[in-house]
Amino acid sequence: MTMDELKESLSFNHLYSKECLSRGSSPIKTTMKYFLDPDFHFLGAGMPPLELFAFQNFQFQTFDMASYKLNEIPEATVSNTTRLMTGDISKDTFDYDVEISQALQYGNSRGHPELINFLKTHIDTMFHVSKMYSDWDILVNNGSTFGLESCLRVFCNRGDTLLLEDLCYSSTIEAIEAQGINHVPIKMDSNGIIVQDLEHKLRNWDYLYGNLSKPKLMYVIPNGHNPKGTTLKDSRKKEIYSLLQKHDIILLEDDPYYWLQMPDYKRNEKTELEVFENKNQFLSQLAKSFLSIDTDGRVLRFESFSKYFGPGVRLGYIVGSKKILDNIWNYHEVSLQASSGVSQLMVNGCLNRWGQGGFINWFMKLRTTYTQKRNFCLNTLYESIDCFDISDFITVEKAPKAGMFFMIYLNIHKHRLYAENLAKYGKNGISDYYENMFFEKFINAKLLLAKGSWFKVKDPNHEVSVSDTCMLRGTYAAVTPEKMTSGLKIMCTIIKEEFK
Ligand code: PMP
Ligand code: PLP
Repeated sequence: MTMDELKESLSFNHLYSKECLSRGSSPIKTTMKYFLDPDFHFLGAGMPPLELFAFQNFQFQTFDMASYKLNEIPEATVSNTTRLMTGDISKDTFDYDVEISQALQYGNSRGHPELINFLKTHIDTMFHVSKMYSDWDILVNNGSTFGLESCLRVFCNRGDTLLLEDLCYSSTIEAIEAQGINHVPIKMDSNGIIVQDLEHKLRNWDYLYGNLSKPKLMYVIPNGHNPKGTTLKDSRKKEIYSLLQKHDIILLEDDPYYWLQMPDYKRNEKTELEVFENKNQFLSQLAKSFLSIDTDGRVLRFESFSKYFGPGVRLGYIVGSKKILDNIWNYHEVSLQASSGVSQLMVNGCLNRWGQGGFINWFMKLRTTYTQKRNFCLNTLYESIDCFDISDFITVEKAPKAGMFFMIYLNIHKHRLYAENLAKYGKNGISDYYENMFFEKFINAKLLLAKGSWFKVKDPNHEVSVSDTCMLRGTYAAVTPEKMTSGLKIMCTIIKEEFK
């Protein structure tokens, strides 16, 4: 299809919230283009003078990923693998740098053009959005947490409804509940959302959820699900997308672990370094985004640098239809205003020095490091379970293929006092009792595992887990091998003491 034939995204005006529809765009925003014209007498906007900015110079150091060789993992040290990244307000920098005078000033609230250019090329190379519809764009924000908040405000009134996976990142549940939005959970298995459950709930909505309005949004965490660790199978995505089209639902694709995809875990096998002959071979292993099948412009993909460059960078962006992004931008004007110019300057400077290829090299390095961490964690977990002879009492979720989380289930019906506790706490309270009991015991022994109930999407029509298991979420991201080994030892000791 040529560009001329490519259609624009659909209009979703009928789905916007009252708040969104009553919010206009900022008049001052339209004047920013004049600010960039040096011949203009710009007396119209309250910009502080640049000679009074306290910071006049920035220097950063970053790993040199531009010269990274395929299948070589650079040491995470500053020595010979780094290259100085500089920006100086008083000197000419590279064309692709965000100038410090711009980074510290108002304007460019959609994101600095240099950064947007880099990210658009990156996204289009990965997901081919330009082949789907003509008016796609990106909007820079400060991460997926705010990305979600902004989309909820743009689409939802109090009492509206949103679909979620039946386990979900706790902060997402809190954001939805705080805005008085209803959520309906969709069942998941170890390959993500179960399409038949989605189909069943949408088809029988009035019968099952007659008191709730039809859902406007669906939120998914496709890769390395938080907390379940699962990855949504590509083959399910088309079916899910068709259902969303049929029922006129916008999809929020929150995918902060996309680049933490890993090869399959093979129990007790030593991690061999994956050998890729070229970058395309690496890229062809990766999951698809819903963006690559979205011809309507109903998918909003949240990208975040938190898991790739550090959460304190507070930088992310939404990819989607310009029409929708314009409305989110209007909300930014009265809330976020713009993402930190300093963060954008840093990230843009780093990315452009690396180049598109170097950015992919960075992701290859992340893949290898996370694979090593995951394999070490799971090998140690299985060895500890065998060594403590507790395999009857614990079930481990299928090994994660992405992300940083693993999930375990304690088979509490095999606990020595199960019958007594069931009589005392009942079918509905027994899981919580065990979850609290184990959580407290672990904490007293200086071990933290997250409680499964923090991530449960509650719905009277739907039970997330059967009452005879108790879920616990662990992570292997920021733990040393020593702490992982001793932490799992504490866990197994307590399970053994309690169950036997
Ligand atoms: N409040 C007032 C009264 C202002 O004049 C301005 C800046 N024009 C702002 C808030 C915006 O401040 P900030 O850049 O900290 O978001
Ligand atoms: N979304 C999911 C699914 C997450 O797991 C997290 C972090 O834990 C976030 C969003 C937060 O992302 P950000 O730092 O970009 O706000």
